[in-house]
Amino acid sequence: MKILIAEDSLFFRNMLQETLEKWGYQVVATGDGGEAWDVLQREDIRLIITDWIMPGMDGIELCRRIRGADRPGYVYIIMLTAKGSKEEVVNGLSAGADDYLTKPFDPAELQARLAIGQRILHLEQRLLEAKRKIEELASTDPLTGLLNRRTLMQRMEAEVERARRERQPISVVMCDIDHFKTVNDAYGHQAGDAVLREVARCLVSACRSYDIVGRYGGEEFLIVFPGTDACESMAIAERLRAKVASLLVNAGDEQNIQITASFGVATVREESAESIDALIGRADRALYCAKSKGRNRVCLGEVMR
Ligand code: GH3
Ligand code: MG
Ligand code: MG
Ligand code: MG
Repeated sequence: MKILIAEDSLFFRNMLQETLEKWGYQVVATGDGGEAWDVLQREDIRLIITDWIMPGMDGIELCRRIRGADRPGYVYIIMLTAKGSKEEVVNGLSAGADDYLTKPFDPAELQARLAIGQRILHLEQRLLEAKRKIEELASTDPLTGLLNRRTLMQRMEAEVERARRERQPISVVMCDIDHFKTVNDAYGHQAGDAVLREVARCLVSACRSYDIVGRYGGEEFLIVFPGTDACESMAIAERLRAKVASLLVNAGDEQNIQITASFGVATVREESAESIDALIGRADRALYCAKSKGRNRVCLGEVMR
């Protein structure tokens, strides 16, 4: 764990640094609040011991700056100063310090108070990890790991808006596995699930990193191609179709399932003000057209004026 010291007295700074290093901390020592603030802009340090009175920026101003800044992680501040009246302690804590110690300090007490700081920072770490996990769970489809419908729609909306702003084309492709019910009926739902996972993986691997692939519904996938016009999207969709058709999904007992999928493509032209729903509607109608023409094919939706 790294600790940032802000202390103008060279003697006290060195003594503090030595003590902290003896306890196993990494130390960055600075001579006033301004220097400490600069270090904080460059380095990810979460634990600070600061003096109050220093030339340039003092400890109180440093606390205020840190609390006023929009930083990604919490910074735990211990104020260590010769100022020890009740009023000064209150002022120091009110400026944003988490803890307050007076000089000369007792090493065992400082050590115990540093442990409190680390405990709080560790708690924050765990909260952030839990939040990340929840966000991930809330945005992905558990079976395929793709974006779920809600997140897919949010991302699609943002991409369509961006394409309009930047006057770029954007296309969406609706993909639906052919006769999927038959797969479930013939091989069972677990085999059906394996097919869904494999198709998802196949679509992702065949798309570019900035394309958006999501599970729209049961055996329906929606793919967004930013910056891509109708002609290019048709070519990509055709490539996806061929890849899906060449998949062999293992269903146990040396049984390999072969499937095909149909694709409907719709493109937003730069100047169009079409809604997301209308766009999906066009991709859906193109998909229906691919189904009615015999499946395992790609159809282009009607072009919006
Ligand atoms: P079509 O070629 O016209 O698309 O025929 P289809 O059989 O694929 O279409 P239909 O809509 O009749 O059937 C879709 C099937 O997908 C029905 C449903 O049980 C199955 N399904 C939906 N979600 C899941 C899932 O998560 N796992 C499995 N195994 N099956 C699913
Ligand atoms: Mg001082
Ligand atoms: Mg379907
Ligand atoms: Mg289907």
